[in-house]
Amino acid sequence: MRALILVDVQNDFCPGGALAVADGDSVVDPINRLARASPFVIATRDWHPADHGSFADQGGPWPLHCVAGTRGAELHPGIDRDLVDVVLDKGQAPDREGYSGFEGTELERLLREHDVDTVDVAGLALDYCVKATALDARRAGLNVVVHRGATRAVEVEPGDAEHALDELRTAGVEVVD
Ligand SMILES: [Zn+2]
Repeated sequence: MRALILVDVQNDFCPGGALAVADGDSVVDPINRLARASPFVIATRDWHPADHGSFADQGGPWPLHCVAGTRGAELHPGIDRDLVDVVLDKGQAPDREGYSGFEGTELERLLREHDVDTVDVAGLALDYCVKATALDARRAGLNVVVHRGATRAVEVEPGDAEHALDELRTAGVEVVD
């Protein structure tokens, strides 16, 4: 069985959001197309406590974003929710990065329960949470396909997206357009 993991397609990561990824909302249409073709769709949400360690006021690298229960933490309204089977919240432990959808969640158990052997991965942001989720999926022994055209990168440093893709390919992840 094949599953689609939609990583953090949330208001705060889209234009106008607290940690907007350039062009982030342009993943919505390709993601809906992927979701329509997928038998099992899981969407992750970055879902932080207000004192999360990744926030600048706690000494972390990022501005306040995706605080649990806020509008910024909601999935982008363009995502067709009827196509999403499960929403999983991550990043809830204050002292952990929580980039990966596998970290502190039921994701691996859920995939095993559904006899998933291959995951398609898309969403935001390629060089952080998409990468971490795809690498953890490989560690869990799954075949992994990252859909480049349905991701966008933060690119704190220019070239981060390409480095992320190299790292994914080295780990055995298939990258497709
Ligand atoms: Zn976060």
